[in-house]
Formats: sequence, C-alpha cells, structure tokens
Amino acid sequence: MSFTFYNTLSRQVEEFKPREEGKVAMYTCGPTVYHFAHIGNIRTYIMQDALIKSLEYAGYNVKRVMNITDVGHLSSDADTGEDKMVAGAKREHKTVMEIAKFYTDAFFSDFDAVGNKRPDVVEPATNCIPEFIHMVEVLLEKGYAYVAGGNVYFDTSKLEDYYIFSSSVEKEALEVGVRDDVEEDTNKKNKTDFVLWFTKSKFEDQALKWDSPWGVGYPGWHIECSCISMKHLGEYMDIHCGGVDNIFPHHTNEVAQSEAYLGHKWCNYWFHSNHLNDQSGKMSKSKGAFLTVSLLKEKGYDPLVYRFFCLQSHYRKPLVFSYENLDNAVAAYNKLVKRVSELKADGAVDEAQKKDYEAKFCEAVSNDLNTSMAITILYDVLKADVNDATKIALIESFDRVLSLDLIGHAKALVEAGTSVDAELEAFINDAIARRAQAKKEKDFATADAIRDELLAKGVEIKDTREGVVWKLV
Ligand SMILES: [Zn+2]
Repeated sequence: MSFTFYNTLSRQVEEFKPREEGKVAMYTCGPTVYHFAHIGNIRTYIMQDALIKSLEYAGYNVKRVMNITDVGHLSSDADTGEDKMVAGAKREHKTVMEIAKFYTDAFFSDFDAVGNKRPDVVEPATNCIPEFIHMVEVLLEKGYAYVAGGNVYFDTSKLEDYYIFSSSVEKEALEVGVRDDVEEDTNKKNKTDFVLWFTKSKFEDQALKWDSPWGVGYPGWHIECSCISMKHLGEYMDIHCGGVDNIFPHHTNEVAQSEAYLGHKWCNYWFHSNHLNDQSGKMSKSKGAFLTVSLLKEKGYDPLVYRFFCLQSHYRKPLVFSYENLDNAVAAYNKLVKRVSELKADGAVDEAQKKDYEAKFCEAVSNDLNTSMAITILYDVLKADVNDATKIALIESFDRVLSLDLIGHAKALVEAGTSVDAELEAFINDAIARRAQAKKEKDFATADAIRDELLAKGVEIKDTREGVVWKLV
C-alpha cells in the first residue's frame, strides 16, 4: 500500500518514498520558548503526531528530531524587531534561561496532554553554537555569505531559485511583501538576504552571546534548524514538518543555506499543516490573550477532546475554533466513550475481520492523512456485525494512531458507575427503608417523593419480586 501526503515542495499529493527502505528521517521545527504555545501551535503538533503514528502504523520506523528555539528568533521572522526571548525575560522580570526553562516545560506539558509522542531527539539551539559557527564559516568560504556592518548574511542572489516552495504568482506576492517591509536593514545586499550570525546587534542587552570568528554575538534563527537536523539525521532527511506560516521565510531560508552548504538536495518532502482560526481570524500570540491547552483544561475540557476535535478535520484546511465547536466534540467524544464502555470483552477476536478493518484504517491515514475518515472507520467498527472482543481489539489498534484513550476513559466510566461511595450507599439504603415504611402506611405521596429525591441524586429504584433494586443513571 502506498503512503501519500501533500508535499509542499512539489505542490501536490505525492507517494512517499523514503531514502532508506522502511525508515523515515524526520525533522520538526520546535517552539520558541518565550511564551506559552497556543492551541493553534498545538494543532500543528497533533497533526504531525498523527503523521508519525500513521507512518508507524503503515510499518515505517520514524526517527524524529526537534529543536527548541531559545536564542536568535526576532519578533519578525525576517530578522527585524525585538528578540523574542529577551522580550519575554523583560516582560516577566526573569533571566532568558529561566524563561526558556519555564516555557519549555509548559510546552511539553501541553504537548503530552494531547496524546503526542515525544520526539526521539529534542535539542535546544543554545547547545549547538559550534555547529552554527562551522556552517557559517563554510557558507562564507563557498561564497554564499558575506559580512556587512558586523553581521554575517546569506546572499540569496547566489541561488538559482530562492523561492523554492512558491509558484510564480506566489513569488511575485512575496517579492512585493519583502520590498514593502518597513524596517530596512541597509547592510543587506538583497532584500531577501537573511542573518546567519549577529554581532553588531541593536540589542544592547542581548543576554546570550558567544565568541565567534566575527566577534561576540549570537546565531540567526533559521540556521539552527539546518544544523540541528544535520547533527542528528546527517546530510539527508526524508520529511521536514512545520506550520504553513513557516514556509516563508523560515523554511525557504533553511533550504537555501542547507543546500548551499551541502552542495546537494537536502530534504525531499515538506509537510505543512494549516492554521487554527478563531472567529476573528488566525490565532496568534501578538493579539494579546490567547488560548492554551492548560487553559482549556482549567475550564474543564479534557485535552484529548481537543485532539479529537483536531483529528476530525483535515490538516491542510484551516480549522475554526469556537467553544460551540469544542462542545460538540465533547458530546461526540463522551458518546463514543459510553459506547465503548458497553462492550464486553468475551469471546475470541475474529482475526480475519480485524485485519480487514485495520487495512481500511491504514488506507485512510495513508491517503493524505485522512484522519476524519479514520474516525469514521472507528464508528463503522462500533456498528459492525462483529463480536465485542474484536471491536475492543480494533479500538486498541486504531488508538496507536488516534491516541484518544477511549478504552481508558471507558474503564473509568464503568468504575465510576459501579463504585458508589459509602455515604451515598448509606443514604440509598436509608431512603429505601423510609419508602418501604411510607408504602406500608399507604402514604404514597411520601413514597413517591423519596423516589424523586433519589432520582435527583442520580439513583433509580425499581420494585422487583426480589425486593427493591437500584442503579445509577
Ligand atoms: Zn525550523
């Protein structure tokens, strides 16, 4: 079976062919740890997680590397504005390293809560300063970089095709955007050139600086992803992931410097997921208040319901977030859990049926990561004419990709339904005795009132030949 997804480089859905049979070398751009990741950022990581687990479901072995940006990322991706880490430290009256540690931990707490698997390698940019310096030196030697005004820049005019991801129409729009950029760096030979190493920084208080052949300074943002991926994956990689807003300039610059440095093609497949929008437009941190997974949790939402919400839509489409939409996902998720909780694991698993459904599921996720179709197949299984043991085995199997923990939640639901705390049990027994007494005295109004009182506490009673029985409803 072929595995396909949309490759931004070829601008089409393509069959994935790794360089090494059965193995996938993957890189994903990590967070800049100056603030919390909003739920739009987390959507990107959920869809990447679905891609990785789908590849694994289809039999691939994936090695994934991710960076943590703790230096060099300015408020504009085009090297202008304030350093995000320095701004974050100022905002919170902390050091840059304290900020980095706090927001790295906060990031992974939300990352884990939505069911994501951690990358095999996570590398902070500040760990790799010698690698950055080496790459900049080679780019200077090869004539792809120049020193101006104390900084080292990449010379984009040396490339045949700088706008590697863009069609000719998009290229024109980007060129206009770059020309109209208000903040002009007069050191640049070409508008699209970008900083590889800052020494003459306009930020007097840049906290993190290192010695380099060009003076004390710090790396540009784009260089870190090229170096960190090569450090752990070597000169080639199969899939590079990110959000659509990384395509330009970040990923465009990554390709420029990596291929100039290596002298050959670097990465064959680029996987980008689309934005999460709220009703006023794209979710972003610059707007001030923004939503995080932890905040959703505080409001009583299970983070896995947010994952379920994301998986129901296609990664290439913008997704609109509203509480109404999320509440619909909560209702659907709870219904699923309830149905799973009613399954009884008796009998033997029907292996032929199981294989059949697993193949359908694999086909869905292998077809441009159609996660909503994968969820439809889960519903089909619940309705299917197969025994409960097979259904449970399939739900477990699909959860290797979906990671919705339906079985765990269903078990918790069953336990909550059968275990009643002692206080409630005493109350129920007392109420039943009072009701029996009232009935004996032919005081039916009181007997009915006691029955309603129990019902209000979620307890339903029934008179049977064996006496009064009760259950939680
Ligand atoms: Zn990156």
